[in-house]
Amino acid sequence: MKQALITGITGQDGSYLARLLLEKGYEVTGTVRANSQAKLTRLRKLGVADDVRLVNFDLSEINSVNRVLRQTTFDEVYNLAAQSFVGSSWDQPLYVADVNGMGVARLLDAIRTYCPQTRFYQASTSEMFGRARAVPQNEQTPFHPRSPYGAAKVYGHYITMNYRESFGLHASSGILFNHESPVRGAEMVTRKVTLGLARFAHGEHVPVELGNLDARRDWGFAGDYVDGMWRMLQQDEADDYVLATGVTTPIRDFVSFAAEALGLALEWSGTAEAEQAVDRRSGKVAVKVNPKFYRPAEVDLLLGDATKARTRLGWEPKVTVRELADMMARSDYDDWRAEGPSR
Ligand code: NDP
Repeated sequence: MKQALITGITGQDGSYLARLLLEKGYEVTGTVRANSQAKLTRLRKLGVADDVRLVNFDLSEINSVNRVLRQTTFDEVYNLAAQSFVGSSWDQPLYVADVNGMGVARLLDAIRTYCPQTRFYQASTSEMFGRARAVPQNEQTPFHPRSPYGAAKVYGHYITMNYRESFGLHASSGILFNHESPVRGAEMVTRKVTLGLARFAHGEHVPVELGNLDARRDWGFAGDYVDGMWRMLQQDEADDYVLATGVTTPIRDFVSFAAEALGLALEWSGTAEAEQAVDRRSGKVAVKVNPKFYRPAEVDLLLGDATKARTRLGWEPKVTVRELADMMARSDYDDWRAEGPSR
C-alpha cells in the first residue's frame, strides 16, 4: 500500500486529494496545526475524516517538519500547506514568506536528508505570473508576482526546481490556476459569492459586497485539479506543469451563473466602483461593489495554457465554470437550509 503525506489536508485541495488517494488505495497521512481540529469540516463533508491519519505539523517549525519526515518513509509528499489568501498576504508579508516560501525549503531539505526517494509535489500558482508578460501563460512564461503571496510562491517554485536539479529529487511543481469547490475558503471571492447569494435566496437580504467585478479568472474545479497533481507524481521524470481550463470569466459572470442556479434574476446597473445588482423578484440589492475590496495591485489577465499537462499527463478539466458556480451555489443553499442562518 502506498503511503502519502498531504500537508494542509484540512484545506480545500487537501480534502479532495485525500479522497482521491484513498480511492486509489493509498494510506493517507495529513498534517494539521495545533489549532486545526475545529477545521476537519471539509474532510467530514467529503466523507473521509475517519480514514486519514493526522499528525501535528507547522511549516514554519523546522523541528516539526523534520519529525514528520523522519518518522515515516512516504512514497509521495504533497505540499499543499500555505497561507493561501492573496488579499491578506499584504497584512503579514513576512509570515507568508516564511510559510509559503521558506517552508518549502524546510520540507525539501528534510526529504533530501531522510527520504531522498520520496516524490514531492509543490503547490505553485498562477499568481506567480501576476503582471503577465504573455497571454495565455504556460510553463515558459516569465514570473512577475503582484503580491507577497505570489512572491513567496515564486521562491517555493524555484527552490523545488533547485532541489530537483541539484540533488536529483523527484520534485514537481503544479502551476495551478484558480480552482474552487463547495469547500473553498469562505473568504475567497467565488465562495463569498455563493454563500452570500444562498443566504439572499433564503430571504436574508444583505447584499454581497465585492471588489473589482471586471477582474477575470481562469476557474476550474478542485476535484479535477487534484487528479492532475497525482498524475505529475506518477511520471518517470519530475517536471513543472500548468493546470488550467483555458477559459477566462469576469467575476460579474460568475455571480450571474450562481444567481441563476438559485433562481435569482439579477439586474446590473451603475459602473465600476458604484455598480450593483438588484434581484428583480424581491426588488432588493443582492450584490454591490465596495472599493475597499479592490486589491492594492490587480493581476493582469490570468489565462492558462495547459497543453503540456494535456499531452504528457493526459489531464483534462471536466467541470465548466457555469457547472462549478451551480455546484457551489446549490451546496451552500442546501447547507443553509440544513444548518440555518447561524452558520
Ligand atoms: P486552503 O487555504 O484551503 O488550505 C491551506 C492549508 O494550509 C490548510 O490546511 C491550512 O491549515 C494549512 N496551513 C496554513 N499555514 C500552515 C502552516 N504554517 N503550517 C502547516 N499548515 C499550514 O488552500 P487550498 O486548498 O485552496 O490550496 C492548496 C494549496 O494550493 C495552497 O498552497 C495554495 O496556495 C495553492 N494554490 C491554490 C489555488 C486555488 O485556487 N485553490 C491555486 C493555486 C495554488 P489550517 O487548517 O491549520 O489553517
